[in-house]
Amino acid sequence: MIDVRAAWADALSRDALQLIAEGVTEMVGFQVAILSVVRDDSLRAVAVAGSESARERLINAVTPMEVIHQELAVADDWGRFKFVPSERAPADTADWGWVPDLEPSDDPDAWQALDLLVAPLRDASGEIVGLLSIDLPVNGRRPDSDQRTLLERYAAQAERAVLVALERQALSEQIRLATAAREIVRNASVQLHVDDLLAQCGEALTHGFRAGGSWVQTFDEAGLSTGALHSAQGADIWLPDGLIEMAETSAHQLWALQQSVVLERHPTSLGVLTQEQYDQITPFMERIGVDYLLFVPLGAGSTCVGNLVLTRNEGQPAWTSTEAAAALDIGHDLGRAILNARTFAHEHRLVAELTALDLYKGQLIATVSHELKNPLTAIVGHLEMLDGAPELSPASHNSVSAIGRAARRLQRVIDDLLLLSKVGDPDQPIVPAPVHLQPIVEDVRDLTAISASRGRVRVELDLPLEAMVADGDAEEIDCLLTNLLSNAVKYSPADTTVSLSVHRDGAEIVLTCRDQGIGISAEDQEQLFTEFFRSADPNARAQPGTGLGLAIAARIVERHHGSITVTSELGHGSTFTVRLPAAA
Ligand code: ADP
Repeated sequence: MIDVRAAWADALSRDALQLIAEGVTEMVGFQVAILSVVRDDSLRAVAVAGSESARERLINAVTPMEVIHQELAVADDWGRFKFVPSERAPADTADWGWVPDLEPSDDPDAWQALDLLVAPLRDASGEIVGLLSIDLPVNGRRPDSDQRTLLERYAAQAERAVLVALERQALSEQIRLATAAREIVRNASVQLHVDDLLAQCGEALTHGFRAGGSWVQTFDEAGLSTGALHSAQGADIWLPDGLIEMAETSAHQLWALQQSVVLERHPTSLGVLTQEQYDQITPFMERIGVDYLLFVPLGAGSTCVGNLVLTRNEGQPAWTSTEAAAALDIGHDLGRAILNARTFAHEHRLVAELTALDLYKGQLIATVSHELKNPLTAIVGHLEMLDGAPELSPASHNSVSAIGRAARRLQRVIDDLLLLSKVGDPDQPIVPAPVHLQPIVEDVRDLTAISASRGRVRVELDLPLEAMVADGDAEEIDCLLTNLLSNAVKYSPADTTVSLSVHRDGAEIVLTCRDQGIGISAEDQEQLFTEFFRSADPNARAQPGTGLGLAIAARIVERHHGSITVTSELGHGSTFTVRLPAAA
């Protein structure tokens, strides 16, 4: 519900109310009309139409509601308007109101200086939110029944106009606060850390809510207070343990109820708090010197992530329900932002851990491969010597050959592992230079010629006449193409064709390796470039391999700031497309 009282004090609504007051004087034939509003058990005149002296005397005048109630108790009921003839006016009326200079008259119908004609203005719930008073009829007479009918009509209109003006004002107040909230969310989305987020938001909130100060208490993932209080003013806010716990429990409860609460240093009623709770809060409010607290739970979905406290001091107005509602909206925005910041921090940590793990894995692979490489080279060398030894029996000879084959296979694995760690090492970037691709493609074709002819696979090259020059490392591009072409040959049945083409596309060189082989399922395509991945497809498994070739290819492409993609269908061949930056 919109709290219309929130809007009374505002300059904009004062203008609107002034117009209404002036309208009333003109229409009902009175010289003075006063619009007053209820605030803290008294009435304050916020708009006065009439003579300059009346205005000066009356504007901002404050009358206790008690006095009004006394007057209304003795008034004649004219419908919306209540009339107190001067004969019946309570003794102290002259102390509070404005008494015009009028000659007393014996005429019973003449308007008297102390006559009082007022219409209480009520909100939808029937509560008095203001008062319209009129004085000094132009004709100098107390209204007769015709005039009263007219008055009745205008009183209703004035009340509607006043309430509409105030509701509009309250709405615009809510919009202003909501805008502050949006600003917070915008800031929040670019902030990564909860601390930075709260430092920025705190200021915006304090400003937006015209608060004296603010602080935010955040809870950790388990919903418990982290003990961290972020105060907008940078001042140390120190909450006693008991209050931290109370704030934590209350925030969770209020979030579930979707409510924010106003706490007063001198409460008129306990509201949602118990006396015991107030006994803890009051000394704290006294110590930090604040009169009103607006306590707002923060959260997203069903999770409460903390609470926001906005403070106001003596002399500042109390929080209104409009402000409390807007603050709860902000509780949603801020809660979501805190959760985002937390997720960011979490991801950051995870990425750092994964990077460290990846580094460790790379180092492990490199070290182990190095340690294996030397003894293996010795083994292979000695095997070659043994291979030609005449004293070996045919059986021993077979064993030596088998050991040799296995050792060479191990050598290939180790070479691939060393290459993988080299091309994956950010500390060993490539030194780009112009690389002529035609000769490399032809070399690669020659290198795979033996295995191609053994498998009766035809290899076709499609090379343009103009020189294709990429920007990169010749050795690595050679290795990349070797891996693609040898795979294409390896995974192709006899009597099929593999084609390797090169062309230029703008600032890029496009290399395409197409085969009519066994193809790759969509599921396998997703993991193709992961180290050690080998398809479970029996047709693929039938071929020897380490599962490292495409991982190496992908890293080489990445180091060249290029891209590699695959299109394939099981049983219908595959096409690998590599894009590399062309040399300038
Ligand atoms: P491998 O040493 O096993 O060939 P790669 O990393 O080069 O390792 O390839 C990974 C897996 O991708 C292979 O085991 C194979 O299942 C599949 N693959 C790669 N290239 C092709 C291709 N041209 N046709 C079909 N499957 C392929």
